[in-house]
Amino acid sequence: MRAMWFVIRVAQEVATRLGLREVLFRTMQASLMSRLIYIPFDQLNRDYGAMKIAHKDSDHIVLVESQRMLTGRQWHRQRLQFLVSSARHFADELKHEGWQVTYVHSATTIEGLRTIQEQHPGAELVCAVPNSFKLKQQLEEHGATFVENNFFLTSRTLFELWAQKQSTFTMENFYRAQRKRLAILMDGSEPVGGAWNYDAENRLPPPKVHDWGPPLYFTFDDIDNQVASEHSEGAWGKLEGKTWGTTRAEALAQMKHFFTHHFKEFGPFEDAMPDGSWSGHHSLLSPYLNNGLLHASEVVRAALNRFAEGDIPLSSCEGFARQIIGWREYINGMYWFLGEKYCDNNSLNATRPLLPLFHDPEKTQMNCVKSVVSDINERGWTHHIPRLMVLSNLALIAGISPQEFLNWMREVFVDASDWVMVPNVIGMATYADDGVLMTKPYAAGGAYISNMGQFCKSCIYDPKKRTGDDACPFTTLYWDFLDRNSETFSSNHRMFQQMGGLRRLSNLPDVKDRATQVLEGLDAGTI
Ligand code: SF4
Repeated sequence: MRAMWFVIRVAQEVATRLGLREVLFRTMQASLMSRLIYIPFDQLNRDYGAMKIAHKDSDHIVLVESQRMLTGRQWHRQRLQFLVSSARHFADELKHEGWQVTYVHSATTIEGLRTIQEQHPGAELVCAVPNSFKLKQQLEEHGATFVENNFFLTSRTLFELWAQKQSTFTMENFYRAQRKRLAILMDGSEPVGGAWNYDAENRLPPPKVHDWGPPLYFTFDDIDNQVASEHSEGAWGKLEGKTWGTTRAEALAQMKHFFTHHFKEFGPFEDAMPDGSWSGHHSLLSPYLNNGLLHASEVVRAALNRFAEGDIPLSSCEGFARQIIGWREYINGMYWFLGEKYCDNNSLNATRPLLPLFHDPEKTQMNCVKSVVSDINERGWTHHIPRLMVLSNLALIAGISPQEFLNWMREVFVDASDWVMVPNVIGMATYADDGVLMTKPYAAGGAYISNMGQFCKSCIYDPKKRTGDDACPFTTLYWDFLDRNSETFSSNHRMFQQMGGLRRLSNLPDVKDRATQVLEGLDAGTI
């Protein structure tokens, strides 16, 4: 392409001398503009996806801010701010670097692409394979040419080859295969340190006194301010201060902050739910990994380099690597492997509408839920344990429609994507796939939250009680959930212990009466 451009420059020179320069230049520019490189808002990276094959001299970069994408749901303000401002910054930076960039506002993505294509007749539309079924289908029907989606460490083909050989889709098996394939924390064919995981060391509750350290915050610039002024109508949640960076430089600053200040203690406290820190020792990198500002390979490389300095416990490094090369890749792989219809699963026939507390933390007296939903309201994020063991656990044992819960999760988290949320909610959180992903449901009573969090001491409910006005709703609903689904779970050997506990319960009728009150109170926003 560079050689071709040189030939055309020479031709232009000849044409200029002949007085035909302008006509020739336009003709050749039109034919040279052979490609429109479309960059979706979750592929904002110069070195991966379609940008990897783009040429500054000849290709035209296209981003589309679609009105449907912005207003189609009741999105969290932080989410809109993060995604839109990151995309505008990305486009702006490319322009300053000399790329030809068009950032178009339109009703829909396809309409925006059509508008640009009209300005570049005959240009080929090129995009990396999108990250969702929906956009992939839309672009296919629109005639886009796809190049490889290399935003993950595992191609869809490679994952499919692994999945086809499995009788059960155990993440641990996938993770070990990844460790070997990618040669991460390996000593020959054995794991460094002799063990594949350090979960037992990585489940410490929050200490009574601990310095969690402040998270990194950023400063709004002109683009951030402009985006913030545009997207307030109809959205949910607060937008005060800049928790989430919107440039590659800020994403890198967050990565540096984590490896400098939090990596060491990440592992032991990765499941802890302290009440004095919303971020604990978590990396806060998932938004940047999921919109492309960071790539998994550079994050893992940085982790291994930091580990090599010698002061990071293996449990922290392994726990972090597990999240990046294990869980993240596994969830993406399963999203594509299980297919588009997987999100419709509802094997436990859970039909309760979304509870009012999910949009208004004042609609509950449960201290853990109020605290976690307030955190989400503030910044569109909470770490994996409040997501799984507080919010999802509640949705599961209260029998909330998995699809309603899925929609809510997609709307309120700054790092949510279809590929993230569908397997996590349908498979892991609500067991709506009848055990395809998980061998048993992640259901728990108040004891787990009491042990791993610091919410119960100032709660009006008692995590040990399952009946009475002050019984913990989690504890009551846990037993009611097992009883409601006893037929399904009695044939699951991994539920043997729980079902035995249910059979030994002396006051099940009283528990069920209290569960009825709890569910009515949750629907009314009074529990
Ligand atoms: Fe949550 Fe129950 Fe503890 Fe209250 S007692 S904070 S509802 S687990």
